[in-house]
Amino acid sequence: MENVYDVIIIGGGPAGLSAGLYAARGKMSTLILEKEKAGGQIVTTSEVANYPGSMENATGPILIDRMVEQCKEFGAEFEKDTINEIKVDGTIKTLVGEKTSYKTKSIIIASGANPRLAGVPGEKELSGKGVSYCATCDADFFTDLEVFVIGGGDSAVEEAMFLTKFARKVTIVHRRDELRAAKSIQEKAFNNSKIEFMWDTVIEEIKGDGIVESAIFRNKKTGEVTEYTADEEDGTFGIFVFIGYIPATKMFEGVIKMDETGYIITDDNMKTNIPGVFAAGDCRVKSLRQVITAAADGAIAATQAEKYIENELEN
Ligand code: NAP
Repeated sequence: MENVYDVIIIGGGPAGLSAGLYAARGKMSTLILEKEKAGGQIVTTSEVANYPGSMENATGPILIDRMVEQCKEFGAEFEKDTINEIKVDGTIKTLVGEKTSYKTKSIIIASGANPRLAGVPGEKELSGKGVSYCATCDADFFTDLEVFVIGGGDSAVEEAMFLTKFARKVTIVHRRDELRAAKSIQEKAFNNSKIEFMWDTVIEEIKGDGIVESAIFRNKKTGEVTEYTADEEDGTFGIFVFIGYIPATKMFEGVIKMDETGYIITDDNMKTNIPGVFAAGDCRVKSLRQVITAAADGAIAATQAEKYIENELEN
């Protein structure tokens, strides 16, 4: 007979892994599905300073590795697959993946969110060739070079600070004259002598033949357009885009209730509109998207999934 899991978790970021830990520890048969490698956005984070108890040098990948270990210690299984559809009509639900299909009594959607693209000409072509969405992954390539960071939120400012450990100079390009980032984060950036700011400015085009060579910026207030060209000696520079995220929920459209921007609507117990389907972490409507809130969501979703199976399915 086909294997039916108690719970399948879609996504292996902090929300999915916390759900996996709680579910497996609660003796539920648990499968965690991840597209490529476990981690989610947090693996692109150089420093996790605001997760209680995290060690001084805790990076995103270190934290995630430990979460994966904990899930495995309690017996959670991991599989790499991309889920394209969920069928939630009956008591046994089906997840249709690219590799195979999976059966389960309950589902926890912890699919997270993906970086928003700047959407300018040249961005896609030069992605990985000077354009990046992950400072931890790519900062090293820009040692002693110039770097532009697009955005004014926590991610942009924190990652800009991390980039100063490598780059010669980091310029934060923000579309307004005031940062969105938390005041504590802003202060550190204002005190960092390697960071400069281009206020009221947007990027309009990225140019280069196989590698970033120049970028066009426009000042929104004055209308002035400037083209920054790489130093002749350098030949290139970096453009890091941190302008927010888009929830990875497209595959659940029409099945799971979402808000107008694609975030899944849940109640306080992580319940979606479908009994037995829960959502946790950055993919759901919430006011604070952090590792700690993702982890809390995951724990709640797993305990609620357990209750659902005990009370609603098996009675
Ligand atoms: P965010 O808070 O949504 O900020 C996005 C930034 O990009 C804003 O400054 C926004 O400008 C700008 N932006 C958006 N679309 C743009 C566009 N098309 N062109 C140019 N600029 C654009 O995103 P985030 O910084 O990635 O943070 C996401 C969430 O994670 C937040 O809740 C944040 O607090 C959290 N986070 C927390 C930490 C931490 O606590 N240490 C670290 C990282 C992230 P406007 O300001 O003009 O809207």
